[in-house]
Amino acid sequence: MTIRSPFALFGRWTHSARSLTAFNLACVAGLCSVSAVMLWDMREDATRRTEITSRSLLQVLERDIARNIELYGLSLQAVVDGMKRPDVAQASPELRHMILFDRSATGLGFGFIMVMNATGDLVSSSQSITPRALNRADGEYFQYFIAHSDDGLHISPPAISRLTGQWVVMLSRRLSNPDGSFAGVVAGAIHLDYFRGLFAAAGVARIGTVTLYGPGGSILMREPFEQQLLGKSVAQQPSYQRILAHQDGSFVGPAMFGEGERRFVFTHVRDQPLQLSTAIPLADIYTDWWQKALILGGTVLALCGATIGLTWLFCCELNRRRAAEMATSALNVELEQLATTDGLTGLPNRRRFDEVLAQEWSRAVRTSQPLSLILLDADSFKGFNDRYGHQKGDEALELIARSMEAVISRSDDTGYRIGGEEFAVILPDTGEEGAKIVASRIQETVAGWKLPHASSKHEVLTVSCGVAQIPEGIAIEPAVLFCTADAALYEAKRLGRNCVRVSGSVGSDLRLVVGG
Ligand code: GH3
Ligand code: MG
Ligand code: MG
Repeated sequence: MTIRSPFALFGRWTHSARSLTAFNLACVAGLCSVSAVMLWDMREDATRRTEITSRSLLQVLERDIARNIELYGLSLQAVVDGMKRPDVAQASPELRHMILFDRSATGLGFGFIMVMNATGDLVSSSQSITPRALNRADGEYFQYFIAHSDDGLHISPPAISRLTGQWVVMLSRRLSNPDGSFAGVVAGAIHLDYFRGLFAAAGVARIGTVTLYGPGGSILMREPFEQQLLGKSVAQQPSYQRILAHQDGSFVGPAMFGEGERRFVFTHVRDQPLQLSTAIPLADIYTDWWQKALILGGTVLALCGATIGLTWLFCCELNRRRAAEMATSALNVELEQLATTDGLTGLPNRRRFDEVLAQEWSRAVRTSQPLSLILLDADSFKGFNDRYGHQKGDEALELIARSMEAVISRSDDTGYRIGGEEFAVILPDTGEEGAKIVASRIQETVAGWKLPHASSKHEVLTVSCGVAQIPEGIAIEPAVLFCTADAALYEAKRLGRNCVRVSGSVGSDLRLVVGG
């Protein structure tokens, strides 16, 4: 059994254009899949990095806003606590001012604290000991506490201050009588500029759009800053609805102002009705990614294209070579055929005869089987040519060839034209008697055509045959068999032609030659 090396098998396999194409296409598909996974991962990474940056920024803003509102809320609470003390009402205005507002938080962005009574009149203010005549009964926060009895911190929607003309958001607490009835409101303002400063200090400009939403979805601050958007409500925007639904998170949703999709990262300000969000256009997030994707994708596609192109060229070359090989081998077969075939009769020629006789000789010796040879020669053929012309002579030779073919029935028996008007038949596994029968049939068949031959004493075209056989188990060389048959043929000629002679019948000399 032949064992092929793996390299030989691989080499053979790659010779198949179809297998090679399938293999290369699988490689291309694999390369594209890996690249797609890598690109997707890089895209996810860009999303993650944006989210981390946004989240840390929101954390800084949220802590600052929550702490300051809490501080301001505590200041208002201190005033509320002070107002509950009966001695405060009796104290002198200076002392009352000191008691109520001594612990009040002050800072950039914080307005003064006002105390309104149940009718909305300003009764005390951190701004001055003597409060100015002012009524805020129509204020949103005032109306809120008339309607609500909770004592928590209330944050109003942003509005333009009637005192300063600036955008402010009011923080307020309820003043209650001992029986729980409404006694007034303590309120203070935070200027929206405070948030603007805060945003600027945190460096929000590098992150896209950062927004602080107040009660009712009103915009308290937005960076990049747009004055006309302050106070505007986004309560109905689907993206704001999603922000309200969770404490914090991220999602891709429609822009609240402008076109297109944004990636929102958001958080709620602790304990307050305020929310913070960043909104970044998707195109901005993936700008770098797109550049890398184009370079990587382009390179991979170019490589895949080159692989497919080369595979195609290789397959074309392979097919071309295979076609050339097939044409060459077909040509070789044809040449071999021509080299071993007689052009006139179509029978195998002398060259083929020598090859087959040598093969059959070896086989007969090896298997101890008999082998017989018949040599045929057209009688007085020179005279035939002279009389009827060369053309008719050729036709007569063809007639002899067809007669041989008609008689030779066994597939192993083969007829040859081995010379001008000389023919031969090799009969493997056939003894002298069998060969003699075949020779006689050919001789009779040729004579049976009765082709006129005036130059012959038989008056028709005839052949003479010499038959020889190698006896079983005797190995000398094929030429001896040929000489023996030739001698028998010579004997047939000598005895008058148109007859068959077997080598055995020519006497002991020939037997001696055969036997060695
Ligand atoms: P014999 O009976 O003794 O064999 O006499 P012969 O005339 O047949 O023998 P010889 O060897 O003297 O002549 C053979 C002739 O065969 C000579 C040649 O003109 C003729 N011959 C040989 N080859 C061809 C061929 O291809 N075509 C034709 N038409 N004649 C051929
Ligand atoms: Mg002859
Ligand atoms: Mg002859």
